[in-house]
Amino acid sequence: MPGDLTTVQNEESFYKNGENYWSEVPATVDGMLGGFGHISGTDIQGSKTLLRQIFSSNNSPGRTAALDCGAGIGRITKFLLCPFFDKVDMVEQNAAFLKQAQDYLGPHLYSEKIDKIYSTALQYFEPDFEKYDVIWIQWVLGHLTDDDFVIFLKKCRNGLKRNGVIVVKENITSSDQVDVDEKDSSVTRPLSLLKLLFIKANLECSRLQKQIHFPKGLYNVYMFVLKPKSADGNPIRNITKE
Ligand code: SAH
Repeated sequence: MPGDLTTVQNEESFYKNGENYWSEVPATVDGMLGGFGHISGTDIQGSKTLLRQIFSSNNSPGRTAALDCGAGIGRITKFLLCPFFDKVDMVEQNAAFLKQAQDYLGPHLYSEKIDKIYSTALQYFEPDFEKYDVIWIQWVLGHLTDDDFVIFLKKCRNGLKRNGVIVVKENITSSDQVDVDEKDSSVTRPLSLLKLLFIKANLECSRLQKQIHFPKGLYNVYMFVLKPKSADGNPIRNITKE
């Protein structure tokens, strides 16, 4: 696997084990957050502050459509994206979580706000062309190999409307190393590697913010606001592994 994480030896089992891990996790907020359900409010607050900053900046995105990637039961969809956007789409590989999303979101939000629900893994997913103002990707990119991470972000770039942005919110290692979690089959990357992968995906980071008020002992969590790099914003054709 040229250019990929040396730590991911077998892509097939990396993905299979991740899928198996999540199939045993309860479809609750606590399940989504690995037993840290109590930090959800703080997380959403930090994200809301960031979105407000994005909307008050120059050339800000519209508020028509957002996509929640690795959406789980819809925690972010419900508390962050639905209040800000007319319509929200969700993509998630675990069908049981998506089924629970219907109850979790409630009949009003579910029927008024949710447009499309994609039951698929991110490595096989391609957002509709130029559909979204904001694509939100949180606590899921550790489940992709470096190559698929870059390919997915390139596809997301093509899924952005004019002035659209991708927001990535992920754990970061404080060392310069990749931490491997065999239990849930994920990796936690250092800031330097994430920045490199964003560059490979032809994205530039227009804002970088650390989540505040999380309990000590957790990984640092950063929010990255990413925009297409090329000035003309042309879509990238022929997205394949390099
Ligand atoms: N982003 C949500 C859920 C985080 S839990 C939140 O913050 O509340 C991680 C989610 O990613 C789980 O729902 C899990 O099923 C999903 N996931 C893991 N690997 C995935 C993959 N390869 N493609 C799509 N979803 C994946």
